[in-house]
Order: sequence, then C-alpha cells, then structure tokens
Amino acid sequence: MLIDIGVNLTHPSFGKDRDTVVAAAEKAGVCPLIVTGTSIKESCGAYDYAAGLPGRCFATAGVHPHEARDCDAGTIPRLRELAQFPEVVAIGECGLDYNRDYSPRPVQREWFEKQVLLACELNMPLFLHERDAFDDFVSILEQNCPKNIKKVVHCFTGQERELFKYLELDCYIGITGWVCDERRGEHLLTLLKYIPTDRLMLETDSPFLTPRSLPYAQSRNTPANLVHIAGIVSAALSKPLTELSAETFQNSCEFFGIGRR
Ligand SMILES: [Zn+2]
Repeated sequence: MLIDIGVNLTHPSFGKDRDTVVAAAEKAGVCPLIVTGTSIKESCGAYDYAAGLPGRCFATAGVHPHEARDCDAGTIPRLRELAQFPEVVAIGECGLDYNRDYSPRPVQREWFEKQVLLACELNMPLFLHERDAFDDFVSILEQNCPKNIKKVVHCFTGQERELFKYLELDCYIGITGWVCDERRGEHLLTLLKYIPTDRLMLETDSPFLTPRSLPYAQSRNTPANLVHIAGIVSAALSKPLTELSAETFQNSCEFFGIGRR
C-alpha cells in the first residue's frame, strides 16, 4: 500500500470522474490520498470531498503562493476553522514560487509566514511548496518555525545543497514523478540515497507532472501512477518495493497523524 501525499483532486480535470480516479488508485494499492488545498475555495472543496470518503481521503488547508495575491483579513481565520476538522491533516500547500511569480514576492512572503505561524499555533504539519525561492523560503522557516513542527517540502526538485539544508531543518522530502523525467529529473535519482528512510514520502501531484517514463501516454496524471513512481524510486535505491512502500506509508501516517486522529 502507498499513500499519495499530494493529489490536486479538486482540479477541474477531475471534475467528471473524481470517484473513479480514487477507486482506480485504491485498486492499484494507493490509499489513502491527501487532497491538496491551494486556496480557500480549493481547501473547502478538498475538505468536503475528504469528509465524504472517511479514511480514504484527507485534506490540507492552505493558500499556494500563486494565490497569495487573493489573501485578505479573512484568510487565516478561515484556514483556522477548516483546520479544526479531523479530515484536515496539514496546513498548506503554502510557500514561495519565484518561478512563475503569479503573486508579487513580498505578498508571497507575507502569506507564507502567516501560514507557518498558523501551523505553529495549531501544532499542525506544514505542506510546503518552494520553487526558485530557496534562500527566502529557508529564512522564513528558520525565523518562524521551530523544529518540532513537522514539515514536508513537497515535490522536491532541487540540488544537493538544498536537500541537505532541508534535512538539517528536519524537513520531510516529497518525491514526485519529476524523478522519472530524463530531461530535468535525473539528478534526483542520485540524491535519493541521501534522504533518510524516515524522511521520504511519495506523491504524484496529480493531475500535474505525469511521469514521462510511463509505458503509454496519458493526458493527465492520476494517483494510481504512484505505483510507477515508487517502482522508479525503489530501483534507484536498490530497495525492494515492498520495503519502500512500508517505510513511506509509515512516514506518511506519522507525518499526517493518520490512524491517530
Ligand atoms: Zn506545489
């Protein structure tokens, strides 16, 4: 069994067949799914969906840096409300994205910091996004987030220096199908061995990041493809798939408090 810690199930590309996608993932051995909240609206949608499938889906509540420009005085109180539901297992997706810069950088930093403080206040894990913003991202974490607050850098795509800094900050590392991309993800295959076994988690980031090494083309990524990603990671680590699955499953349960809430 595998847990997909990053599924954008509220994305419109799943609008017509969300339940089928979840059922196909379960049939492939991927359950539960952590549905990513990326704005207030999507976080409400993620919670609603997870509440309808108890034990099979959980949700995060947060605002992605792309959406930070829409935050206002109501944002944090609304996230705080959502976080009270047992189905909501982390604050995020939040962080910084200087690759697209859809929100101005100072605005991204302001709302990232506020969400970090909310996670600290609620003693909840953080589901983090960082792209081309490493230095500012680390400095916000160092200044606002004590080590005992759990945090995962989801969809890690960085280099060795970045990985080691995240591990020093006690971050978990989320690995996606980026690792299957021979054009830009090959370095991750060699970095995997530096991730301690108790810090690694797996995710598809569906419907994005369809693994390029799938045997047949797919128009969108789905959580069932986590099995393929796990296979690539297990080969790169020369570790049996059953062992990798058990370790990452356990890490994800502990991280999100699944089975204890
Ligand atoms: Zn992300």
